[in-house]
Amino acid sequence: MSPDRFQAFFRKIPKVDDLLNHPGLKKTEGRYPRHAVVKAIRGVLDEIRGEIGKEKAAPALEVLLDTEAIVDKVKASLERGATYHFKRVINATGIVIHTNLGRSLLCEEALKRILAVSERYSNLEYNIGEGKRGIRYAHVEDLLCELTGAEAALVVNNNAGAVLITLNSLAAQKEVPVSRGELIEIGGAFRIPDVMSWSGAILKEVGTTNKTHLYDYERAISEQTGLLMKVHTSNFRLVGFVEQVPGKKIADLAHASGIPAIVDLGSGNLLDFSRFQLPAEPTVQAVLKEGMDVVTFSGDKLLGGPQAGIILGKRAYIHKIQQNPLNRALRIDKFTLAALEATLKFYEDPYLAATVIPTLKMITQTPEQLKRRAVNLRRRLARLVPGIFHFKVVASFSKAGGGALPEEGLPTYCVAVFSDTMSATRLEKFLRKADPPVIARIEDDRVLLDVRTLLEGDAGDLVTALLKIAHED
Ligand SMILES: *Cc1c(COP(=O)(O)O)cnc(C)c1O
Repeated sequence: MSPDRFQAFFRKIPKVDDLLNHPGLKKTEGRYPRHAVVKAIRGVLDEIRGEIGKEKAAPALEVLLDTEAIVDKVKASLERGATYHFKRVINATGIVIHTNLGRSLLCEEALKRILAVSERYSNLEYNIGEGKRGIRYAHVEDLLCELTGAEAALVVNNNAGAVLITLNSLAAQKEVPVSRGELIEIGGAFRIPDVMSWSGAILKEVGTTNKTHLYDYERAISEQTGLLMKVHTSNFRLVGFVEQVPGKKIADLAHASGIPAIVDLGSGNLLDFSRFQLPAEPTVQAVLKEGMDVVTFSGDKLLGGPQAGIILGKRAYIHKIQQNPLNRALRIDKFTLAALEATLKFYEDPYLAATVIPTLKMITQTPEQLKRRAVNLRRRLARLVPGIFHFKVVASFSKAGGGALPEEGLPTYCVAVFSDTMSATRLEKFLRKADPPVIARIEDDRVLLDVRTLLEGDAGDLVTALLKIAHED
């Protein structure tokens, strides 16, 4: 479509006031408050702008612009109770596991499984073979053990919960030595010392901020010690004159003292990233092999599944954690179980997992693939958004997020958007106010759209958002 024709369709979109006075919508007065009708009208008109942005054929757009059809859509949207507060946004930040934007996206199969077990009754806690009450974790325990080599598994609400219940079950009123270099705070005010104190375990700091040695742990162990704990420092890195004790040495020391060793892995990945020309992150399997008795990690970080806290390890310890009354308070729902089972199944074939699970797919994209996508996006934007904006493909770095993989980032390509008349901060703000909101980052005074985290269909919405900003400014 030529830019002129394109603009012509845009001008044909009816005005909100005219629609409010349409007889079809006048009738809704008394049934819905006026602000809701206005909101619904705006929503439908934005949708139409989106369709125009997707470059539908002209006859299809004429149908969309038919006033009666628009009125019907507004009525339908009012009946649906549209205009939700919790909604989709476009992640143009390049941060794959973005906690504020919902962390991992679920794979299609996981979504299907959620529907399958929520539309109908399920065997959530029913043992079909025996015709009596079953255990909800049974649906994923075998899978988790097969994939990781663990003896037993348990899943709770999130990893913060996993750490809390593990410490409470195995070390309440007991001392737990932790290296000073690992006493971290991660986003959302999760602080290792605070979680320990809530769990009833007594934190015993060992070593120094930059260096902790095996003898620091040895000296800290006494009759009062409940277990040894290691923490993955996630998005915090110490560089230079630093030393932490490897997991295997901690596990050996714990066992020699007759106590367990546990590790909070944070992101916890089952996939060996070095297969994909990425820096290696220790896998859950490797950490268990080192002799760690209990390992905890998140379900929605590198694993790419639903929010969950996964606890793996030796049967006796996992059993003790299962018996803890906190387990009932932290228990996962059926949606989580359905999505987690579907996600885990793909890990039987790591290469399939990397193509099907959105988090892994985004992280393992090659710079060449990303460059191609950026070139295509730039071309589309430059063609459809004439006027005040300029577009340029630039190399940059995106992050895995979730405290995983190197802090320096993964090489990526972005489309830089800039204008002679609008500052980057102003454009960034306008993009956030678009529908759907576009969350982008600013680098060197230009707004960057990182293609790593853009999804199918986002490009059309980006066109719509920029057209609207260009029109309104
Ligand atoms: C992310 C993280 C947590 C918290 O996990 P949630 O699933 O967000 O509760 C705990 N510890 C570490 C090291 C982490 O990186």
